[in-house]
Amino acid sequence: MAVAWVRRAQATIPPELVESAGGPFFPRWSDGATPGVDLPVPMTNLRVPVGWSCHMLSILLGVSDNLHEPGRGHPDSPERLTRLVGSLSAAGYEISRCSREATRDELITIHEPTYVDRVLGLDGIGGALDQETLLGPSSVKAALNAAGTALEMSDDLLGGNDRQSFALVRPPGHHARPGGGAGYCVFNNVALAAERLRRKGLRVCILDWDVHHGDGTEDAFSANSDVLFVSIHSDGLFPEDTGRAADVGRAAGRGCTVNIPLPAGSTLAAYALATDRVILPAVRRFGPDVVLSSVGFDAHERDPQGNMLLKTGDFAYVGSAIRMAATGSASGRIGMVLEGGYDVEMIGQCAVELLRGLEGKSVESPAQDLTEEERSRIEEVAKIHGLE
Ligand SMILES: [Zn+2]
Repeated sequence: MAVAWVRRAQATIPPELVESAGGPFFPRWSDGATPGVDLPVPMTNLRVPVGWSCHMLSILLGVSDNLHEPGRGHPDSPERLTRLVGSLSAAGYEISRCSREATRDELITIHEPTYVDRVLGLDGIGGALDQETLLGPSSVKAALNAAGTALEMSDDLLGGNDRQSFALVRPPGHHARPGGGAGYCVFNNVALAAERLRRKGLRVCILDWDVHHGDGTEDAFSANSDVLFVSIHSDGLFPEDTGRAADVGRAAGRGCTVNIPLPAGSTLAAYALATDRVILPAVRRFGPDVVLSSVGFDAHERDPQGNMLLKTGDFAYVGSAIRMAATGSASGRIGMVLEGGYDVEMIGQCAVELLRGLEGKSVESPAQDLTEEERSRIEEVAKIHGLE
């Protein structure tokens, strides 16, 4: 039997989140044991993939994140997280509740103080950061918890090799720039986690799989040589004017931004070729100490916000690609942060597939589906970055 160290719950999960998920997430934790103490909990359902000597996956749920109510009909609905938690629990994954909130001092490691103060001033009130980034009265609390959960995830990775941690958070973060939120994003959760690790002297790689370009993350690190940012996304979907292959970073960070803009309608074949030709070679050349990933599920063929054609099972490939990227210098240290994914019917199973890929499930990528345009786009990126 594998044994993992599971952090005990330290906070109360919102009742409405529990009810909407069909009951308590962690019934066996309500056994009266001392909260806040690390205890060895036997995990009979922990899968240990071949080749991973000490696989330790923790999944962190921001307990306040579903207090974020951007309004009826908004794509970033609380149901996204509810469905994710329900599917992962049903698949046998343990989920830890995380109540940590990012502090102002932590937020200004990435964001401009004036922006942070503007957001904090909306606590209890709500407001609009732009036309689609809308905050309800409790959204600031949720955003602080989302950022805090990502920071907790980064701390998890410092515990040793072969650590994987997945932060289930909302609002998402990768469109949030240092100076302002956008695209449903308030604080840049993955960037805050990366910066925390960077300040501890680690070289960090961020792989962004969301169908939209991670412009906020790119902006945060574009001049930085300690952080490799790789984004594979739909060309011009959102934002329209960022994420071009020619955008490679600036100053000391030149070459440490890798954009792979794919044409709309791309399938797994394009993602697989991009992984082989660009992503893995770029990561190996950079030599990260840790691999973080912005995980979006909106490249799914059914996603109302996307225009790609990934199938549910294809997310196992994404998981396996993240795993491959962390093999070597990163010693299996992987931190993942939830970004987009707006088809609530599919998002949970996509996450399950992602984790199965992370654990070693292999997926066939049908090369015959590759179009000439997809191939030439990927080869162009490889050429720009000297990955011949
Ligand atoms: Zn997205």
